Amino acid sequence: MFGVYASNTPTASLTYLGLFALQHRGQESAGIASSNGETITVIKDLGLVSQVFDERRLSPLQGHLTIGHVRYSTTGDNVWENSQPIYREGGACGFALAHNGNITNVRRLMESHNLNLGKATSDTDILAEVIGQEYEEAPDARGLERAIEKKIPQVEGAFSTLVMDDSRLIGVRDPRGFRPLCLGRIEKGWVLASETCALDILDAAFVREIAPGEMIVIDAQGVHSYQIFPPTDPHLCVFEFVYFARPDSQLYGINVYQARSRMGEALATQAAVEADLVMPVPESGVPAAQGFSKRSGIPYGEGLVKNRYVGRTFIAPTQELRDRSIRMKLNPLVENVRGKRLVVVDDSIVRGSTTRRIVALLRASGAKEVHLRISSPPYRWPCYFGMDTGRRGELVAASLSVEEIQQYVGADTLAYLEKDRMLEATSATEQGFCTACLDGNYPLDVSEAIKKDGLEF
Ligand code: SF4
Repeated sequence: MFGVYASNTPTASLTYLGLFALQHRGQESAGIASSNGETITVIKDLGLVSQVFDERRLSPLQGHLTIGHVRYSTTGDNVWENSQPIYREGGACGFALAHNGNITNVRRLMESHNLNLGKATSDTDILAEVIGQEYEEAPDARGLERAIEKKIPQVEGAFSTLVMDDSRLIGVRDPRGFRPLCLGRIEKGWVLASETCALDILDAAFVREIAPGEMIVIDAQGVHSYQIFPPTDPHLCVFEFVYFARPDSQLYGINVYQARSRMGEALATQAAVEADLVMPVPESGVPAAQGFSKRSGIPYGEGLVKNRYVGRTFIAPTQELRDRSIRMKLNPLVENVRGKRLVVVDDSIVRGSTTRRIVALLRASGAKEVHLRISSPPYRWPCYFGMDTGRRGELVAASLSVEEIQQYVGADTLAYLEKDRMLEATSATEQGFCTACLDGNYPLDVSEAIKKDGLEF
């Protein structure tokens, strides 16, 4: 998510740049909502930022106030109706809303608000409807922020959210702060962004992270802060550090690349092995592999080349095509791996099938030994807070031991970084993390129905 409030500034163009920097957070749809102080215009579509927007589509987005979104669906179908920002009628010109995370009490909210949402199937629609119903009751100048203040405490789960009407930009972070959100300053205004890397692209100065449970309102008078939830222990998703955030972003004031590199160093200390080459599974395994090499003294090199231009493929998923799909994304550098004892570093193993194919590919390319090192603990429990990791039955570590996973993926040895070492490598242990997918300790109650059948949407 990315939002800008700035006078005499083409805020939609800035948001377009910001969304480019955040493209790694979602590739299914992209959208921008903009206000000129009288009306709100929303343009969104399925596809990458570069596919959805060009000069022609950006030109109607005029005004001093804009929010943008790229979608990664953890729930809900990949259909236009679920692309964001979502626009809803209400007040003088309605409001637009974008959301990152998952809402875990959707069914209860629908029942208590008598909601029936037609074609739309995302939790973000529910959020907009719940706020919109309240806003209709009091559509005055401060009605939108009052509606948010009143209704959002009824919402449970992960919801870093941006909302805008014709004159203010509002940012909210859920009380546990599962997903990041930060505030930046530009010459004529303010920026809210999911990650600091999106501030850098505008040369915006980082001001601070939005606190868990905080609502920020930006209007002509400046920035106003409200703590709308009682204080709760923060639980930033630790996988933002391990995998999700861009390595040039800062979380809890710590550079993500450096943290990943330290995870690799800790892994080399914990699970040393004799080998000829340390190689990453690109791209997210790169910093940890470099850290592993630095600590172990084993040379670092590339063994797989990633095709950066392969997005999602829509071919029929026959077994043969599935087998080939890995080659579309990763091709071995045979000259680098042939005859070598390899340390292959990746950030995580979720379902295991991709790892299994990678190991097979390296062996077919002549690797003498494949020692797999993972810079996080086994991923054993499903995520209900914004990461698409499927149901428990799909997670290879939910039912197999480390030895069995090693056999399944075909590696000579396999080691996962221990949880305490991973947390220590973030250099932010005392700040508070969600680690539920690693240890099953969910920071908030999730209904038995969700545990059994997955999220409602
Ligand atoms: S369950 Fe795992 S992936 Fe989900 S928010 Fe918690 S740490 Fe992140």
